[in-house]
Amino acid sequence: MDIGGNTRICGLIGNPVEHSKSPLIHNTIADAMGEDLKYVLFRVDEKAQLEAAIKGAYALNIQGLNITVPYKSDVIPFLKELDPLAERIGAVNTLVRIEGGFKGFNTDMPGLYRALSEDGVKIEGEDVVVLGAGGAARAVCMMLAERNVGRVFLLNRTIERAEAVANEINGLHDAKIIFPKVLDWYKDIPEGKKYIVIQATSVGMVPHPEGVIIEDEGFYNKVSVGYDIIFNPRETRFMKLVKAHGGEAYNGAKMLLYQGVIAHELWTGIPVPFALAAKAYEKMYGEV
Ligand code: NDP
Repeated sequence: MDIGGNTRICGLIGNPVEHSKSPLIHNTIADAMGEDLKYVLFRVDEKAQLEAAIKGAYALNIQGLNITVPYKSDVIPFLKELDPLAERIGAVNTLVRIEGGFKGFNTDMPGLYRALSEDGVKIEGEDVVVLGAGGAARAVCMMLAERNVGRVFLLNRTIERAEAVANEINGLHDAKIIFPKVLDWYKDIPEGKKYIVIQATSVGMVPHPEGVIIEDEGFYNKVSVGYDIIFNPRETRFMKLVKAHGGEAYNGAKMLLYQGVIAHELWTGIPVPFALAAKAYEKMYGEV
């Protein structure tokens, strides 16, 4: 679709942004839905420029924005309103234009939940193992705690980080849901059943696809479903090991897709049909 006088602009703010798959997701959806909307990339070099970027985007009538690394938390003071889920997570990845400014949302976690649901992975009532305790893992644990899972075993190389995430989330729910452990604790995971494991570290990502967070093959006998939030490479070593031991394995591409789909729905107010999300996914995969 051509750019004209009524074309609405959405975009991504972060640094770097050049590698992003988001233009592909949003422009594919907009074109197929017949929406006069274009999605572009805005690199903001420094945190000191962020406030001017957000205010400038509002002044320029920009419809919506995504926010990526390293500004997902830094952007919060410059928003007019904050959705309660984004407030609890403490990170915003989507801005929607409202009267007088932008409202911040977090669609990463609803995106992960939609991706899991679509892949037929039911988490309610299940014990789940999360590997990693960085920003992504923290948000994963927040989502799990809100979806009434059983116990969450949170394994991380640096135990203090796992403890901080657990204390925060257990405190929010006034319940012991997250159990922080050192990474080596995988050897002590209670026997007798298999677990859904969400791999939320950066280990195994391009340019080091040979990496895997747990090398010991014995661990993979305990995995029913392995969900790696990395999507590049398409099949991580973690996924290969899960599959080799009879489990189902998924990568993070659908999580990325659905955070975009949900953001797009927030910008336009129109649900994106499943078939169209699938089309954007295929296009995205072609380029990963
Ligand atoms: P952080 O830097 O906040 O956290 C990194 C995590 O990886 C920490 O738990 C860290 O452990 C662990 N880690 C890193 N290197 C090693 C290592 N050599 N050995 C053991 N543990 C290690 O990153 P994020 O949480 O922001 O991102 C994690 C991954 O998630 C990235 O690959 C990112 O691309 C992906 N992601 C995917 C999304 C999607 O849409 N699919 C969305 C968001 C993120 P420690 O605390 O001990 O340092």
